[in-house]
Amino acid sequence: MTDHVFYRNLKKQYKEVSHGEGIYLYDTDGNRYIDAASGAAVSNLGHAHPKVIRAMEEQARKVAFSHLSRWTSPAIRELASLTATLAPGTLNKLYLVSGGSEATESALKMARQYYLERDGAASPKHRIISRWKSFHGNTIGALSMTGDKRRQKYMPLLLDFPHIPQCYCYRCPFSCQPETCGVECAHALETAIKEAGPENVAAFIAETVVGAACGALVPHRDYFKIIRQICDRYDILYIDDEVMAGFGRTGRIFAIDEWDVIPDLICAAKGMSAGYSPLGGVIAKDKIYDTFKNGSGSFVHGHTYGGNPLSAAVAAAVVKVLIEEDLAANARTVGAYLLQNLREKLLPFAYVGDVRGIGLMQGVELIKNKATKEPFPAGAGIAEKLTITLMKHGVIVYPGTGNADGENGDQFLLAPPLILTHSQADELADRMVAAFAEFEAVAKT
Ligand code: PLP
Repeated sequence: MTDHVFYRNLKKQYKEVSHGEGIYLYDTDGNRYIDAASGAAVSNLGHAHPKVIRAMEEQARKVAFSHLSRWTSPAIRELASLTATLAPGTLNKLYLVSGGSEATESALKMARQYYLERDGAASPKHRIISRWKSFHGNTIGALSMTGDKRRQKYMPLLLDFPHIPQCYCYRCPFSCQPETCGVECAHALETAIKEAGPENVAAFIAETVVGAACGALVPHRDYFKIIRQICDRYDILYIDDEVMAGFGRTGRIFAIDEWDVIPDLICAAKGMSAGYSPLGGVIAKDKIYDTFKNGSGSFVHGHTYGGNPLSAAVAAAVVKVLIEEDLAANARTVGAYLLQNLREKLLPFAYVGDVRGIGLMQGVELIKNKATKEPFPAGAGIAEKLTITLMKHGVIVYPGTGNADGENGDQFLLAPPLILTHSQADELADRMVAAFAEFEAVAKT
């Protein structure tokens, strides 16, 4: 049969998924895989969770869609109130969209409009500072904030937003060692603000833990405190992109709680509805909401499916399961156990440079030379090849990033469902070790 699907990668062979159960996915040939990527760090409750399916069914019977221009719903209000209870500080207002890029785009526009409402139409504050080796989404605004190779071919279309170096300790952009680290990567924000002119800058955006662009980079314990202080000093909003790290993945409901810092806006998606229905959101501080309310009275934005009752009911059910089953705590303990196991078993391989992460958000960096940290050649596709070997061993990881800019090793991300047990973590580690051993011969060539 002719296949009419316009695939993302037109040269790749795609597996056909049959069904999922818990942490496992099955293909239509009957093979079973550990979904150690949760799709794309999405399926945080695993597959086919009965409570979420029930909530979805119940809501679909009542009403699946009504538009936010006129309607709210009990499901939307319940989700917003759950989010307000869980989010830190006065982040009490939830703006709903349908995914991560829509969330970061919305935050960008919210930051811009906040200063227009507060300071008047002449406010020049519009630029958003972000970081290299980051990912904030694929739409043009989100891609302008993104700092990895995905943006290169669209450069003429992108907004002129400044980027600062990443908090990449394994390859510190400031050549620091842990003992000499002065968290220069955080202080770099101040330099960038001065260069852009604080009067022109609306916000700084950062992933709490870097995901897709650079394999689970966990910032220094002082990083976000310094960021918060700098943002306050120059009257700039701090946008925390928790599209991947939020809703339990790092061992906290919101990853930023690990740093005990309160952002102005939090972007969420993925784990918030755990893949059962597309959903994203921006959680805003009261001061931002009140500025809009007391100003023009509206946020000039919106996407058709944002805030549909079906996705909201699904997300409310997901969040309740997350709390009832204490899955953030599980991610913390099983994540720490898995990370230690993987460090012990994978770091001895000559081509494994770094195994890092927090909770169940972990990354592996592959390198050609351990002593010099020399990466594999750009275009060798080592991470992609290894992910295929891992699949042969029944493990799906988040597709690796190659070394297109020549500045880092190939990497991939591990983000299993937060329901992972200790024995499943053992099964995952054993399968990975077998795949890594088989791959040794390829890595040497
Ligand atoms: N922000 C972060 C941190 C992400 O990891 C992603 C997706 O991986 C996005 C934004 C974009 O989300 P989406 O793919 O749902 O548009």
